[in-house]
Amino acid sequence: MKYFILFGPPGAGKGTQAVALVERYNLKHISTGDVLRGEIAAGTELGKKAKALIDAGSLVPDEVVEGMIENAFNTYKDVNGFLLDGFPRTIKQAEALNEMLAKRGEELSGVISLMIPDETIFARIRHRAEVEGRQDDMKDEVIQNRIDTYHAKTEPLIEFYKNLGKYHEFNGDRGPGAEGIEKVRQSIYVEMDKL
Ligand code: ATP
Ligand code: MG
Repeated sequence: MKYFILFGPPGAGKGTQAVALVERYNLKHISTGDVLRGEIAAGTELGKKAKALIDAGSLVPDEVVEGMIENAFNTYKDVNGFLLDGFPRTIKQAEALNEMLAKRGEELSGVISLMIPDETIFARIRHRAEVEGRQDDMKDEVIQNRIDTYHAKTEPLIEFYKNLGKYHEFNGDRGPGAEGIEKVRQSIYVEMDKL
């Protein structure tokens, strides 16, 4: 099985690129954010607990998302592998993932990192708020908290995965609209084809 991480700050384009990548490489797309939003929509206990944290732009507890990932690994067998989107987001989660993979006798295939500057994050998320109406996209302070949380808790993963020789970085801002998205996509294909 292949195990890829799609990494990057909020609004980097992970969800957008994931759609094409899972198709090209026959992977199961697991977005922890999407799963959590599904729990909220379904009104589950987990969703109720997660909602306040997500609406404030904070992370949900590590154990919660770790359990979701383990669950997905145990559920989907009929694929070439997994594309993890939005996980791991802390060093603790990255270590938990390493353990999950070791237990399965598996190894991380690579980290696909999409990088965009903080100013671009703001512009993109403000635009997405109009299109998708996500609660955590609506308020500037929440967007700022997500960016701050990214820098404080998630950015250290870059060093973590560089040290493991698994880190591959791509410019996530290659111009506006579909053309820019396509350029990013092609640059990822070139590397992922080799992994
Ligand atoms: P994107 O713009 O690519 O959708 P994002 O960071 O804005 O990225 P999601 O990945 O959808 O949005 O996550 C939304 C929220 O869900 C996060 O702000 C956080 O509260 C929670 N969340 C998602 N994944 C995790 C995780 N691995 N650990 C902790 N909290 C998470
Ligand atoms: Mg997303």
